[in-house]
This record gives sequence, structure tokens and C-alpha cells, in this order.
Amino acid sequence: MCDVHNTLVNTVFRSYGSEALKSKYLPQLSAEKVGSFCLSEAVSGSDAFALQTRAVRDGDHYVINGSKMWITNSGEADIFLVFATVDPSKGYKGITCFVVEKDMGVVIAKKEKKLGIRASSTCQLSFDDVRVPAENVLGEVGKGYKIAIEILNEGRVGIAAQMVGLAQGAFDSAMPYLFERKQFGTRIGDFQAMQHQYAQIAVEIEAARLLTYNAARMKEEGASFIKQAAMAKLYASQVAQRASTKAVEWMGGVGFTRDLPVEKFYRDCMIGAIYEGTSNIQLQTIAKLLTKDYQG
Ligand SMILES: Cc1cc2nc3c(=O)[nH]c(=O)nc-3n(C[C@H](O)[C@H](O)[C@H](O)COP(=O)(O)OP(=O)(O)OC[C@H]3O[C@@H](n4cnc5c(N)ncnc54)[C@H](O)[C@@H]3O)c2cc1C
Repeated sequence: MCDVHNTLVNTVFRSYGSEALKSKYLPQLSAEKVGSFCLSEAVSGSDAFALQTRAVRDGDHYVINGSKMWITNSGEADIFLVFATVDPSKGYKGITCFVVEKDMGVVIAKKEKKLGIRASSTCQLSFDDVRVPAENVLGEVGKGYKIAIEILNEGRVGIAAQMVGLAQGAFDSAMPYLFERKQFGTRIGDFQAMQHQYAQIAVEIEAARLLTYNAARMKEEGASFIKQAAMAKLYASQVAQRASTKAVEWMGGVGFTRDLPVEKFYRDCMIGAIYEGTSNIQLQTIAKLLTKDYQG
């Protein structure tokens, strides 16, 4: 919820919004209102710019029709950044970002029942002749794809950080148990087979953390950071899966129950490999940039 609200929605306003849009919406977003970032649709996930939601100019308004899927925070949000095309014949160059308020007519069509991150709402939305004032175009008409690409590149550093925190949380939840629980008259954390496993996971969490800090540092310095952000997100989500799987395993039957948080970490970690670009998409981005580096 914090990631989408701050890293995506507020940053899009701050980086691309007009002074008028910033002064109207940022005070609301910093106080009582929640924001959603609406790019994905049933037909367009990894291929995000194949989206079909349409915005048609009508005098000093745009009329939006279509639907969105998987929208984080949408159960609570009042302010939606909606990506829609003003001209499908222009492909990705028709995609435009609109600021849409809930009471302009955003309808929550369905709330998803999910494996993990269940405290965060994820809903399908529908837009049926939603009239949005033309001044609510955020950035320029036709530049929505650029906003989405740039903000998602940056957002990956946030997801990497989320996954580092999750991995560390799983590790910290399980480790004390290893020095309380005895089997064969020995603390289970003193068996060498266990020591090698938790040492390995500790190294991986540290490596994921450093990849994440490095991507954030490069972004802050204004250096090119896209490859580093993709690497951090990919690796941190893999480490989160390994750390939370091991945490459940290390705690035996206790880890499998809902009495302790490790089973929650185990369920929550999977999302790191899916949203803001799946793991395959991160690998594709890394490979594309490496190809550029090495082929000249
Ligand atoms: C809990 C949750 C919250 C979300 N929040 C938001 C949100 O707030 N806003 C928003 O706009 N979206 C959101 N999403 C959507 C998310 O970004 C997409 O689910 C994601 O981009 C993947 O798209 P998809 O689900 O359509 O999978 P698909 O794109 O259909 O991918 C399915 C599989 O095919 C693989 N694949 C696809 N294309 C390629 C390729 N070219 N090469 C190799 N493999 C490929 C993928 O890696 C994946 O394994 C959310 C999703 C979830 C589950």
C-alpha cells in the first residue's frame, strides 16, 4: 500500500504533474486520501502497452471507457492514475495518464482473493463513460507510456527493498527458534547441516540488500540505474522466496501453522516475482542492456 501510494502515485505527480495538479492532489494524498496506479488490464500485463482502455476527447473533457485489473489500493483509493489510449492507431504513443477521482465514476468490479499480501486490496475496476476534465491529463497527451516506464523502473528499487525486508523478517522470526528447540539433546541451530543453511541465507539477504542500496544510490545520483534496479528486484524476490521457504522448514511443524508469521512471509514473498515486472521481464531487461553493452 505504501509502495504504490508513495513510489508510484506521489512520485508521478511530483515528477510529471503540472503545478495545478500537484497543488490540488498532493495535499490530499499526503493527508486523508489513498492513490492507485492503474496500468494493467485483463489483456495487457507484461505487455502493458497493449492496453485497451480508451479516452475520447469531448469538449473540455475526456470520456474514459474500459477496465483495469490487479489494481493495488483500489478498494480504499480516492485518486486513480489511469493509463488509457487516446488513439489506438498510434500504439504506445497514444497512451496518456489521467488523474481520475473516484466520484467521477470509478467502479470497483471485483476484489481479488489472493495467496498473499491480503491486507492490501487488489481489485478489478471498470470505467463506463467516466468524464474527466482535460486539465487532469498528467504530463502530455501521448506521453503516458514514458511516465509508466520511467516510474516502474524506479519502482523496482522499492519492490527490491520490500523483498529484502520480507526475507529479513522471515529470517529473524525463525532464527531464535533454532536456539530454543532441542532434538537429539542438541539445539537444532548447532547442527552443521542447519548452520550451513542459515549462513547461506544470511549471505544472500546481505547481497540482496547491497544490490538494492546500490540501485537506490545510482538513482539518487542521477546515474543510469535501470539494469541495477532490475537486478535488485529479481534477486531480492528470489532471496525472499528462499529465505521464507527455509524459515518454514527450519521451524518444522510450528512453521507450518498460522500461530507464527513465517507462513505469512512464505505466502507474501511470491508477489515479488510478479508485480512491477515479472522475473522473466527483469531478466529480459538485464539481457537487453547487456546486449547493448557488449555488442556496441
Ligand atoms: C497483487 C497484485 C498487485 C498488483 N498491483 C498492480 C497495480 O497496482 N497496478 C497495475 O497496473 N498492475 C498491478 N498488478 C499487475 C502486475 O503488474 C501484473 O500481474 C504483471 O505485470 C504480470 O502481468 P500478468 O499477470 O498479465 O502476467 P503475464 O504477462 O500474462 O505473464 C504470465 C507469465 O508469462 C511470462 N511472460 C510474459 N511475457 C514474457 C516474455 N516476453 N518473455 C518471457 N516470459 C514472459 C511472465 O514472466 C509470467 O511468468 C498487480 C498484480 C498483482 C498480482
